[in-house]
Amino acid sequence: MIVVDSIAELRKARQSLTGRVGLVPTMGYLHDGHISLVDFATRENDGVIATIFVNPTQFAVGEDLSTYPRDLPRDLSMLEKAGVELVFTPTPELMYPARFQTYVTVEQVTRALEGAHREGHFRGVTTVVSKLFNLTQPDVAYFGQKDAQQVVVIKQMVRDLNFPLEIAVCPIIREADGLAMSSRNVYLSQEERKAATVLYRAINGVGDEYNAGERDVSRLKHIAENMINGEPIGQLDYVSFANAQSLDEVAGIVETPLLMSMAVQFGRARLIDNCILPLHYNTRELATTVLGIQ
Ligand code: AMP
Repeated sequence: MIVVDSIAELRKARQSLTGRVGLVPTMGYLHDGHISLVDFATRENDGVIATIFVNPTQFAVGEDLSTYPRDLPRDLSMLEKAGVELVFTPTPELMYPARFQTYVTVEQVTRALEGAHREGHFRGVTTVVSKLFNLTQPDVAYFGQKDAQQVVVIKQMVRDLNFPLEIAVCPIIREADGLAMSSRNVYLSQEERKAATVLYRAINGVGDEYNAGERDVSRLKHIAENMINGEPIGQLDYVSFANAQSLDEVAGIVETPLLMSMAVQFGRARLIDNCILPLHYNTRELATTVLGIQ
C-alpha cells in the first residue's frame, strides 16, 4: 500500500494503477462502515484509492472540527488489511492553499435536512469531493447511505458537472444493537450510548407500521417523534419524510419511495440515521437507484 501526502506523489501513484479504479473518500477514524465501502471497492475494481482528510470547509461554525477524532496509524493498518492500493492523506494547507477561492455549490437538494441545520456543510463537501475526483480520477466512487443527502447532492453534482464516474451507494453498517456506526459515536457517554439506539428503534417502529399498510406520513412522523422524545437525554433536531429522489418534504398519503431521515443531539454528538421506505428499498441496488437523480 502506498501512502502519499503530496499532489505530485498522488498523480504519479495514480498513473501506476491500471484498469478500473474505485475511490473511497473518508475523514478517517475508520470503523466497519468505512471498511464495508472499501470491501465493495476492492471486489469491484482493479485498484482502490482511499482518502483520509478531515475537511475544514464542511464543518459549520461551532462544530467539532478541532476535536474530530483522529488515529492515522490505526486507519492505515485497517486500509492495508482491507487491500487498498493507495491512500491520500493531504493536509488542509495542501487542499486549501493561501488565496484558495473556488467552491462548488449544488443548489436545491442542499437546502433541506442537513443543509438547513449545518450552514455551508454541503458547499464544503462538494468542493472537496470535486477536488478528490479531479486528483484521483476514479471510475467509481463509494459513498454510504448513512449520509443519504450527501449521496443525493454528489449524484447531482456528478451529473451537472459531467464527472466521468459512477456513484456506488453502500448500506448502513450498524453496531449489534442497531446504532449506525459513526466516528462521532466516541463522543457518547455510557448513558447517551444506550439511549442512542432510539434512532434505529424509530426506524423500525415506522418501518413496521409502513409494512402493515400505514401510508399517512403525519402518522408515521408522529410515531418516530414520540419514540425519540421518549429518550429525554436526546434532543430531536428533525425527523423528515421526503421524496427519495428530490428530497422534497412530503405530506398526506404517499406511495412513492420515501427517505425517512433524522438527526438527534446526544450531548456533544449529533447523530443522523435514515431508511428508505419501503424497507426492502434499502438493498444496495435499490438504494443506488432510488436516492437522488440518475
Ligand atoms: P466519513 O468519514 O464520516 O466522512 O464517512 C466516509 C464515508 O463512509 C461516507 O460515504 C459515509 O457515508 C460512509 N459511512 C459512514 N458511516 C457509515 C456506516 N455506518 N455505514 C456505511 N457507510 C458509512
